[in-house]
Amino acid sequence: MAGHSVEIRNTGEPKGRGLYAVRPFKAGEVIFEELPLVCCQFAWNCAYGYLACDFCMRPLEGAEDNVRRLTRRNDVILPHAHCCPTNKENHTECPACGVQYCSDSCREKAWIHYHRTLCLQSRSRNPNHPLEQLNEAWKQMHYPPETASIMLLARIFATVEQSEDPAAIIQLFMQFCHQTVNEEEEIAHKMLGEQFTGQLQLLRELMTQALYSDTVQQWLTPEGFQSLIALVGTNAQGVGTSPLSEWVKKVTALQLPADEKHNLDSFIDNLYKQLDDEVGGFLNSEGSALYMLQSACNHSCEPNALPTFPHSNFQLAMCAITDIEAGQEILISYLDECALERSRHSRQKILRDNYLFTCRCTKCEAQSEDPDETSSEEEEEDEDEIEEKMSDVEEQAAVN
Ligand SMILES: [Zn+2]
Ligand SMILES: [Zn+2]
Ligand SMILES: [Zn+2]
Repeated sequence: MAGHSVEIRNTGEPKGRGLYAVRPFKAGEVIFEELPLVCCQFAWNCAYGYLACDFCMRPLEGAEDNVRRLTRRNDVILPHAHCCPTNKENHTECPACGVQYCSDSCREKAWIHYHRTLCLQSRSRNPNHPLEQLNEAWKQMHYPPETASIMLLARIFATVEQSEDPAAIIQLFMQFCHQTVNEEEEIAHKMLGEQFTGQLQLLRELMTQALYSDTVQQWLTPEGFQSLIALVGTNAQGVGTSPLSEWVKKVTALQLPADEKHNLDSFIDNLYKQLDDEVGGFLNSEGSALYMLQSACNHSCEPNALPTFPHSNFQLAMCAITDIEAGQEILISYLDECALERSRHSRQKILRDNYLFTCRCTKCEAQSEDPDETSSEEEEEDEDEIEEKMSDVEEQAAVN
């Protein structure tokens, strides 16, 4: 399906390739949909009880249970219960280890692709199992807000292991954007912090204990492992799902009398206010995934497309946010909305630190020629502010 609407071309900065529209698209139109090669919920997100299907990330919690857990108020009642998206009757689990799935189909697919290798077999999970130790070691290195998961790497290993054609799957993963060895080191450093050399070594040892085989040994050398960490660091796309936001979407679409509508709106506003007080931004089941087409998209601070998750699972729909002509490049923003509003200087700093490129998008170029652009003094303040915010976040994570 996607093949007819877009194509990957080996041109364009900064990835050395880009994704281009084959036909025109109207703003709001879905350009393509795709499933990930691998997907995994974040470790802390899972540990904190954000229940999601272990394969597709669909929420397993009802909307009301979700709100009650997050607000810590057991008396909250959501009206229009039929708008809750969660269908518990279809839920199932791995009979061997008890991880949960939204459906038999997800359980079967997980088993066929990677879970046979990763299943811990025991319901009373053994904390000494190398995979459990690997996950724990990762959690101690990588506090919320999470941007990656070592289990995504484990799933890559297991996917290759279980494939009928391992060489072809390895080839597929190698098509993702690659950096030089020095750049990969920089990315690993950024992801793991100051002690990254020792941490990388520890993770690699635990991964080797858990999943060594001849097929994947090229990824278990120091360079191979760092390279895979960097691949995930620069290519993984965040996936977020929430039963509450699905419920909100459905109730706001209901045809209701004006006064009822008004009451519902203020109920929802109030609910989000309470949630904000209680958990801040941590509303969703969160994880990350690797997508073939999405990862081929280059960044722009003035994007023409946006990755969305309209099915409340890991299926990505790339949505046009402006009209796009045939032959035009599909550009997404690697920065979140908040960072996108910052000055050119701060945007470029974040992109350089995390993705190792200097943005030359239309917006950045226009702003660099603009004599009214913020003075360097203001920009330094701007930057200090970011640093401060980051350390706030880190402190908060450490408290939790
Ligand atoms: Zn599922
Ligand atoms: Zn299992
Ligand atoms: Zn830019």
